[in-house]
Amino acid sequence: MTTYAEFHRRSLTDRDAFWREQAALIDWQQPFETVCDDSNPPFTRWFPGGTTNLCHNAVDRHVAARGEQAALIHVSTETGTERVYSFAELHVEVQRMAAILVGFGVGKGDRVLIYMPMVPEAVFAMLACVRVGAIHSVVFGGFASASLASRIDDAEPTVVISADAGSRSGKVIAYKPLLDEAIATARHKPASVLLVDRGLAAMSRVAERDHDYAALREANLDAQVPCTFVDATHPSYTLYTSGTTGRPKGVQRDTGGYAVALAASMKHVFCGNAGETYFSTSDIGWVVGHSYIVYGPLIAGMATILYEGLPIRPDAGVWWSLVEKYRVSVMFSAPTAVRVLKKHDPAHLRAHDLSSLRALFLAGEPLDEPTASWIAGALGKPVIDNYWQTESGWPILTIAGGVEALPTRFGSPGVPMAGYDVRLVDEATGEDIVEPNRKGIVAIAGPTPPGFMQTVWRDDARFVETYWKSIPGRLLYNTFDWGIRDADGYYFILGRTDDVINVAGHRLGTREIEESISSHPNVAEVAVVGVADPVKGQVAIAFVVARDAAGLGDAGARMRFEGDVMKTVDTRLGALARPARVHLVAALPKTRSGKLLRRALQAVCEGRDPGDLTTIEDPGALQAIRALIGG
Ligand code: AMP
Repeated sequence: MTTYAEFHRRSLTDRDAFWREQAALIDWQQPFETVCDDSNPPFTRWFPGGTTNLCHNAVDRHVAARGEQAALIHVSTETGTERVYSFAELHVEVQRMAAILVGFGVGKGDRVLIYMPMVPEAVFAMLACVRVGAIHSVVFGGFASASLASRIDDAEPTVVISADAGSRSGKVIAYKPLLDEAIATARHKPASVLLVDRGLAAMSRVAERDHDYAALREANLDAQVPCTFVDATHPSYTLYTSGTTGRPKGVQRDTGGYAVALAASMKHVFCGNAGETYFSTSDIGWVVGHSYIVYGPLIAGMATILYEGLPIRPDAGVWWSLVEKYRVSVMFSAPTAVRVLKKHDPAHLRAHDLSSLRALFLAGEPLDEPTASWIAGALGKPVIDNYWQTESGWPILTIAGGVEALPTRFGSPGVPMAGYDVRLVDEATGEDIVEPNRKGIVAIAGPTPPGFMQTVWRDDARFVETYWKSIPGRLLYNTFDWGIRDADGYYFILGRTDDVINVAGHRLGTREIEESISSHPNVAEVAVVGVADPVKGQVAIAFVVARDAAGLGDAGARMRFEGDVMKTVDTRLGALARPARVHLVAALPKTRSGKLLRRALQAVCEGRDPGDLTTIEDPGALQAIRALIGG
């Protein structure tokens, strides 16, 4: 039996042979010439010359062997609907959607922006895009018009696919007005908009531009659209993620490498087998949704559950009832969701037959010990933490139980996965830290593994500058996470090195939130920091200096102003980014050179020592804030 250490070592030292074997997990139309082209670092090209198609691997190839088996299980506890699509039915629906796209003139390399709630049509849309070689860009439905507009301008989509509304906790959230506003403000105007009408909210239509999905589907019932086989290095999608600037980055992913990485991770990490059911509670707007709601499980021939709703509605047993009903074998969620469930009676869990479930995977934010032990105890199943990023597309650190069931260690997501040459480096010197238990920056030496981001969409320079030039003296990929490694090689993640915060497993840039708050006419200055929260991991807290502070003299006016600032964030970025608190302050703590002392602010909010304040311009500003929040 191979030990995991050997398996991992081989993925790096006998790289081509290793990945050639993994590449056999997917179908190729034409074999690749080269396994890995790393002649132009830090750019890595996997399997160039090989042609394949993501939709073929996720859908078509399963139709013969398991056409009648469930492929997509859609459950909405918001609308009370449940629908199962077999692989054969999914194949038909995807071709109808693909025919509609082709009718709009969409072809290879064109972008399609998908702004949708968790409905089956969103999955048809993603698969239809990659089927015809188009590049999809899914924008999380919780984002509002300014976020959407900036993504429209960057992706320049030919078509936008959207819906009348989403629903959260029984509350209808209309998408169409946000989309119309986004298109109105964006410089780029998509030629066509395809709208799925769920009958939740009224929609106004723009003549010529807006089209009804139901009608076009009806007109394409028997459509046959063959897969466009593309080079393995052809982009399959872009997905925007926050960084330290206000401008989100379009993480660009390839086709062949991604399919191989997902197939390999389904086998070695998630241990999901064809014919079983996978349930990831994420959203298609996030990378977990791309990799482990849509592509990973389907590539592996598994049924995948697409769930719209909360984990506690109608009650905290809803997820476990789905595990029982659909015999889920692998489940994937986030620590935040578990912390929400933890507030409810564990009897909800025990009321269901969970015998089909083998493991629960958690990712997206640090997994704290109480949360991990509570859910492990309640389920009586292994709980496996995994650490990764939008950029990586699949786990960087975890336990590959399909190779060797190494013990898990509380507080650690585990060890580097195949193909990841993870380094821990000294922040100041950039040198590798070899001794155990010393804090450093988590970095990755190239070539990066299959599935890893290719570049920043249309901005190679930004890719190189942002990710590869920030470690002194070395060309290393920077994860922007602090970490330590113990004597046995287990890593522990200690938080971000940049101004990115993690709210309920979702990554948000504090700069983006600050920029949206600054658009409020009465805001002179603002600082947003992430502060520890018992349920969401972190929440955003905003400190605002008003232009006209005199008009905000009484408590009522101040409260209205604070509420107004929150509303500004809601309408520009989305409720997800809304600060938990807005504090009106007279001044912000800054250094003498004018730099905001965010870390000091954050420390004060968390009741910690703000550290070295020798460079502070006005100590009074920080003292006033401490008094304000009662620290
Ligand atoms: P995103 O790109 O939105 O998935 O966010 C990725 C970031 O979330 C990482 O850079 C980490 O800061 C954090 N993160 C993800 N998974 C974990 C984990 N298992 N443990 C600790 N932090 C995590």
